[in-house]
Parts: sequence; C-alpha cells; structure tokens
Amino acid sequence: MSSPLWSDFVGHLEPYVPGEQPGQADLVKLNTNENPYGPSPKVLSAIKDAVSDELRLYPPPGADELRTAIADYYDLQQNQVFVGNGSDEVLAHTFNGLLDHELPILFADITYSFYPVYCNLYQIDHETVPLDDALCLRVADYARPNGGVVLANPNAPTGRLLTLAEIETVVEGSSDRVVVVDEAYIDFGGESAVSLIERHRNLLVVQTLSKSRSLAGLRIGFAMGDSELIEALERVKNSFNSYPLDRLAIAAGIAAFADDEYFQNICAAVIRDREALVVRLLELGFEVIPSAANFVFVRHSQYDAAKLSRQLRDKNIIVRHFAQAPVAQYLRITIGTEQQMNVLVDALTTIIR
Ligand SMILES: *Cc1c(COP(=O)(O)O)cnc(C)c1O
Repeated sequence: MSSPLWSDFVGHLEPYVPGEQPGQADLVKLNTNENPYGPSPKVLSAIKDAVSDELRLYPPPGADELRTAIADYYDLQQNQVFVGNGSDEVLAHTFNGLLDHELPILFADITYSFYPVYCNLYQIDHETVPLDDALCLRVADYARPNGGVVLANPNAPTGRLLTLAEIETVVEGSSDRVVVVDEAYIDFGGESAVSLIERHRNLLVVQTLSKSRSLAGLRIGFAMGDSELIEALERVKNSFNSYPLDRLAIAAGIAAFADDEYFQNICAAVIRDREALVVRLLELGFEVIPSAANFVFVRHSQYDAAKLSRQLRDKNIIVRHFAQAPVAQYLRITIGTEQQMNVLVDALTTIIR
C-alpha cells in the first residue's frame, strides 16, 4: 500500500511485525516471551508512589537515578549506561549512531528480525551470516572486515547461547567497529558480557527489563559500554526525544534493580519450568534446541509446524511460528507458568497421540 501523501521513504519501509497481542483473556499466551510472573510487588508500589502531582513535570531527561542504579548493579560508572524506551529504542539509536559505516554490518540470518528493519530505516548496508545446520552461530564467520556486528545472546528465536570467550573473539576481531550484544534473555541462564566492557571499548551490551524483570508493558531498556559509545547514544537521543523514559518507568526501573531477590526467584522458576518442559517435549518426540532463554525452539519430524500452531490455537494456546526457511518447521514456545505448561503439554499430547 502507498499514498501520494507519503514520502517516498515511508513507502519503502518494511516495518517489524510483533507477535499478536490478542484481547481474548482466556488464551494461554506463549508467543511473545513475556514473563508469566508479574513485576515485583515493590515495583508496583514504587509506580503507585510515583502517581502524583509530580506528573505535571517533565521527567529528569537523563534518568540519572536509574542509570546509577543500573551502574551500581553491574559495577560500572553512570556514564557507561544509557537508558531508553525499551531496548528496541536503544537498539534503534545504536544502529543510527554507531553502526552506520562504509562496510556492511553483520548479523545472523536467523536472529531478532528487528535488525534488518533498523537497517532499512537508517539505510545501513548489512550482510546476514548463516547459522550452521544445527542453528549454531560460528564466531569464525564474523572474522572479516565489517561495519559492525550485532549478536543476540542467547540468540532469538533459537535460544542458543554463546560463551563469553566466543563473544570476546568477535569483539577482538572487529576492534575498530562496534560489536553489539543484545542480551534480552541473558538472565535465563547466560553470563552477561558486561564484564568484558572494561577491556573492550568497542563492546556495547544491550539489555531490557521486558523479559526477566516482567516489565514489557512499561518499556525500559538500556545499554552498557565505554562512555564514548554511551555519549554517541545520548547525542542521538537528544536529537530525537529528550525524555524517553517517563516518571513511572524511572521509578519502576529503580525499584526493579533494588529487589534482586524477587528477580532471582522468578528467573529460577522460569529456568526450572523450561527444563521440565524440555523433558516432556522430548518424550513427545520433539527435537528441542538447547535453550538459555525463556522460550524453547522445537520441531517434530512427523508434524508440520504451521499446522501444529493452528491446532494449538484452536485449543486457545498461541505460540510463535516463523514461516521462514530454514526454520519454517520450528515453533517458538515461551515458558509460562507451571500450569500453562501443563495445558500446553496436554494439548500437544492430544494432537500427537
Ligand atoms: C524482546 C526483545 C527485544 C526488545 O525488548 P524491549 O526492551 O521490549 O524493546 C530486543 N531484542 C531481542 C532479541 C528481544 O527478544
């Protein structure tokens, strides 16, 4: 579709299509990797406290208190942390401010599908690097001249994790370009590359409060890296929207990092339920890619993925199916509550047996 009122540029955009957010309340929603547990009660009360006359005032533009909370949590300085309206926005500023150079940037052929959308938006040349047949990312494939590298770790939608040594190999191999590690799922079983920041001034680690901290509805993301990289992001942000995080989000973010016990508990519950689900899916004959995330990526040699997805939908369960080679026979299933996982396994058992 196009319109004579649009700019040429807008007519050529290829926007990202997020997973469905249906209004129907009785659905078992396992399609967008949200946390099945609510935010910490302390986060909810911090938001309630922030609902006051102060909302007539703009928020602090740099969200300094939140940046300090994140810096303290990860043992960094405040000027090594950037915050934004969801990590999607942080990534957008990163593509715009740090990844636009002469040579193409590199990312996997199967990874977060927002990356090519940003390339299109900001007119950044990119090349995709195929995963191997087991959907593993081979870091050696990134050892060539490039305009920057973007890695999701764990990768989405596969769930596979790279080791810190593998990340460091990529970071060292492109030392004159920025390497972005998108750690949206790192808290579900990986080790953050944030510990490498001191040694590598070209490493930018991006995280979000949407998944492991149950705050997808508030939109808080952040980046950590050398102060020079952070300043680039600040420059882009302050040329776009000086106040990306509102007062409620700032209050919630600070409270989320203060309540580490709640955070550790819900991550442990998701990991426990993932491992239990994997066992039951294997019993049903599924092939399951080892996952360090809050989802599993699975296929069944005898059942078509698109059809399975429709059959689950008929039973009020939604999972994510990407009709894209070479993963068109896979389903991505978000880890829900123990009870939701029981409903899922019962439904799959009925369909398959
Ligand atoms: C969910 C997700 C994001 C976006 O997170 P928001 O902070 O909610 O914008 C970024 N990267 C990956 C790989 C994701 O899965």
